[in-house]
Amino acid sequence: VSRKSKIVILGGGESGVGTAILAKKKGFQVFVSDYGKIKEKYKQVLINNEIAWEDEGHSEEKIFSADVVMKSPGIPDKAPIVKKLREVGIKVISEIEFASKYTEATIVGITGSNGKTTTASLTFELLKNGGLNVALGGNIGKSFAEQVSEEKYENFVLELSSFQLDGIEDFAPHIAVLTNLSPDHLDRYDYKYENYIASKFRITMNQTEADYFIYDADDVEIEKWLSKNTIKAQLLPFSVKKELKQGAFKKDNQIVIKINNTEFNMPIATIGIQGEHNVKNAMAASTVATLLKIRKQTIRESLEGFQGVEHRLEKVLKINNVMYINDSKATNVNATFFALDSMENPTVWIVGGVDKGNDYSELLPLVNEKVKAIICLGIDNQKIINAFGNVVDTIVETDSMQAAIKVAYRLAERNNTVLLSPACASFDLFENYEDRGRQFKEAVRNL
Ligand code: ADP
Repeated sequence: VSRKSKIVILGGGESGVGTAILAKKKGFQVFVSDYGKIKEKYKQVLINNEIAWEDEGHSEEKIFSADVVMKSPGIPDKAPIVKKLREVGIKVISEIEFASKYTEATIVGITGSNGKTTTASLTFELLKNGGLNVALGGNIGKSFAEQVSEEKYENFVLELSSFQLDGIEDFAPHIAVLTNLSPDHLDRYDYKYENYIASKFRITMNQTEADYFIYDADDVEIEKWLSKNTIKAQLLPFSVKKELKQGAFKKDNQIVIKINNTEFNMPIATIGIQGEHNVKNAMAASTVATLLKIRKQTIRESLEGFQGVEHRLEKVLKINNVMYINDSKATNVNATFFALDSMENPTVWIVGGVDKGNDYSELLPLVNEKVKAIICLGIDNQKIINAFGNVVDTIVETDSMQAAIKVAYRLAERNNTVLLSPACASFDLFENYEDRGRQFKEAVRNL
């Protein structure tokens, strides 16, 4: 791609508009096209930057005159316009691919099925507290492309979805993290788990021997893939199950990180975020920080202070000695598994929403052990009732957050926990998982 080329950007959201700003600055002729409606705030940004755009439809002549097309991650490969572009041989790339060409910064790329936002936010915190000039981007907050256009950061921590990785050709993070694998978004991968896994591993495909790959060595699918494929980057595994020669592991209630001659350790009990999954997230983040030479004391203090991210096992309020926890971001079974796993008290569990082909059987032992009542919150609850009817006596169906919270309040006794961890998408009753989480918090605060 050379300057003065034409770039067409499909999608006028955070990713698309950020790319447009960067491309304009780099001298491209830019056109943004969105099949849906572009939000007012993004329209304003486009207008202020004198960037041409259209919405509620695609002008094909303009789009097909592009030298390169940037596709926003929300647009599936099966979208007719994307298929046609590929047929005529026009390059379709992602924001990450495009923007990474314009920065020399050190890039930490974080992907995985669960734990991306938590691990990316924590990593950012560690590097920032360590005095690095660092920005957080990708799927979180301000787009990577726009932050690259600001030309002021020496380090980036990027949360990368598989959709962002599908559109890369040369992108290579200096440090890649793969938090874990579990089936998700399979509708975008021809319902083949192996396609989704391959997409996640694209994060390593352009790495060299000078780079690092940090991954969960307890994850069977990751280990399986690694046994069949080679990666050039240096491997740094983390594990909560076994001691490792290199990487991060658990020993005597401490996390230990060993990289060459450096060793870091810290008591698990002092980490601010709870649950075994968060021990893993903390291991991944502090491995990155250790590689980037952040002081041990800074890593320890930051891990103690980090309180997690909104909607991820977020403690909302204690009422009558009942703790209410918002885990609205648990939109798949695996995330909910870890939420239930980290419950220490008898739990009233609010679950349900849009089913993504969920297999609930892996939750049965945990539900049996920890859940005293289930509150279904969704349009179609039958699958949940079928799955847990035999192990939980009380199952109540509700169809609004307020109703669910009322029932939860009635069912929960002293020293119980009320947990919203839906294991489902939110689009039946809510705008998105954030809306669901906010409604939960509001209903709890109104009790
Ligand atoms: P992502 O950005 O990958 O969706 P988040 O950090 O937002 O990940 O967490 C999503 C959900 O997964 C939350 O419910 C959270 O409690 C849970 N979770 C966080 N880290 C992990 C992990 N390492 N393994 C499994 N579940 C996790």
